[in-house]
Amino acid sequence: MADKNRDPVAVIGLGRFGSALAIELTQRGTEVLGIDNNPKHVQDLSGLVTDIATADSTDLAALKQLGVPDFYRAVVAIGSDLEASILTASLLVELEIDHIWAKAVSRQHGRILRRIGVHHVVFPEHDMGERVAHLVSGRMLDYM
Ligand code: ATP
Repeated sequence: MADKNRDPVAVIGLGRFGSALAIELTQRGTEVLGIDNNPKHVQDLSGLVTDIATADSTDLAALKQLGVPDFYRAVVAIGSDLEASILTASLLVELEIDHIWAKAVSRQHGRILRRIGVHHVVFPEHDMGERVAHLVSGRMLDYM
């Protein structure tokens, strides 16, 4: 795997978080492969994301068939289905993806993801709460 293409990003799970991420990356000129096991979620992104596929990301053979082992960066954007999130992340670790990002819905979820070898764990709801707090306090300062 010496010459993995460093540009494309595999985004696994195309719910609200994953689809926003996949669309934004595509608009910024990054090639994206979006994967979801729900055909409706995949269809909704048709034309908005570079490449999309319907597949179960807990299936190693499916990931291989889609060329995921050749990616340098991948994001696990599955949150509420903890089993699918952890299984998918562990397969990406097994495939030795260089930069694995995953979203976590709780501290425990984040801890498990880090323990199995995920490089970057994000907490979208928590992080957004902090950002909004900054915005709100900034706006309040304008009125003082
Ligand atoms: P969001 O808030 O981003 O909508 P969520 O955490 O509420 O996400 P989840 O149910 O965790 O939603 O799933 C996010 C996406 O991941 C969904 O579109 C779902 O179809 C997809 N997904 C769940 N399990 C798998 C899987 N095994 N393989 C591929 N995609 C999956």
